[in-house]
Amino acid sequence: MNRTLPVQKNEYIEVVFEDLTHDGAGVAKVDGYPIFVPKALPGESAKIKVIKVNKGYGFGRLIELYEKSPYRVEIPISEAHKYGGCQLQHLSYEGQLKYKENLVRQVLTRIGKLEDVKVLPILGMNNPWHYRNKAQVPVGEKDGELIAGFFKPRSHEIVDTDESVIQLPEVNEAIQTVKEICRKLGIESYDEENHKGVLRHIMARYGLQTGELMVVLITRTADLPFKNQLVDELVTRLPRIKSIVHNVNAKRTNVILGEKTTVLWGNEVIYDSIGNVKFAISALSFYQVNPVQTKVLYDKALEYAGLNGEETVIDAYCGIGTISLFLAQKARSVFGVEVVPEAIEDAKRNAALNGITNAEFAVGEAETVIPKWYKEGHTADVFVVDPPRKGCDEALLETIITMKPKKVVYVSCNPATLARDLRILEDGGYNTLEVQPVDMFPGTTHVETVALLERK
Ligand code: SAH
Repeated sequence: MNRTLPVQKNEYIEVVFEDLTHDGAGVAKVDGYPIFVPKALPGESAKIKVIKVNKGYGFGRLIELYEKSPYRVEIPISEAHKYGGCQLQHLSYEGQLKYKENLVRQVLTRIGKLEDVKVLPILGMNNPWHYRNKAQVPVGEKDGELIAGFFKPRSHEIVDTDESVIQLPEVNEAIQTVKEICRKLGIESYDEENHKGVLRHIMARYGLQTGELMVVLITRTADLPFKNQLVDELVTRLPRIKSIVHNVNAKRTNVILGEKTTVLWGNEVIYDSIGNVKFAISALSFYQVNPVQTKVLYDKALEYAGLNGEETVIDAYCGIGTISLFLAQKARSVFGVEVVPEAIEDAKRNAALNGITNAEFAVGEAETVIPKWYKEGHTADVFVVDPPRKGCDEALLETIITMKPKKVVYVSCNPATLARDLRILEDGGYNTLEVQPVDMFPGTTHVETVALLERK
């Protein structure tokens, strides 16, 4: 027993929840000691069981809800809902939007010390379900039958699921169809524990604007048995299919895709477009998963960039050049930087596909490549960054501060590092004029934000 803590493991207590954590758990405090409880919402009171106590915080499980939040929604107790990766689905969409918007505001004040910054109301979706254009589901076996679905949280046990509430119907249908055909043909599933068997993952991608579908079959073995029958049935049953790809991953690893890909049928890529920019997407390409909200986000970034055709733009962390190509249509020239070489190849190919000739792309770390450009005399009028969760490298922020672009457009998937970086840019001579949260991932706790900064 730990007598210095206000609660003990296995104790039943009554609490009131005050807040939500970044991963969607309710936070209750007992004499200032925080306890995190999944599926509890702020304002709710409940009986909980304390299941773990650490020095500074503990974890609990909901036993009985006494007072429910007006934002709570009842969710169907289906496997798809239980394991579908939506930590916030017990919170109404209105509640989710409010939560995300407040989170951005709080973090900007607390970490960024940006007390009066203008945070606009979050841009949400009209229909916040079935939005993901991509799924990759693990394949296993249960009672001698091939199954595919989600991993149970914190385990490698697969739960067979026939739909996901966040995936597009076309994606759900494709996964389901592949599963049925594989079952019928008797294709062996992969056995993770013994690293034996054949089919590891099924992946499906769908171009929402074009209606083109890609199916990727990922196997441990170099050979995919019943290949021809599988292809024939897929083509018959999925009229939207444009590409069937076989990927081999022989390694013992959690990484889904291996290095060897062959096209079994159709094209190597499918196409999709965001606004009027067209993209070729291969099995291995990164592509935004919520096409509807991506357009909303990029439109905002474009608006913030305020281009009139005269500007030089740098797009750091450019990925496959999505934002770069969007901006290139309105700028004099755009220079994109990205650390993954394959993404830069995609970016160049996509520029050519759209006949865009004023966008150039370089492979390397933004914090290495851009300071070098600056030393060589290159500057920018508008500087766009869209870093991964850890935010911008400090060397890059220092370069922005010395390069003095008129505007910085900061696209962020993590409000905490956004706030930290905005503080550095503010101290370096920038004003944060406006911050716009965009809901790219309804049902989950992820928050996307775009901020506009101007040189003082
Ligand atoms: N702007 C793109 C992708 C943003 S995701 C889009 O909207 O689609 C962030 C990207 O930053 C990833 O592609 C990642 O590979 C890249 N990245 C990570 N660290 C980097 C670094 N130090 N320098 C350049 N790019 C980096």
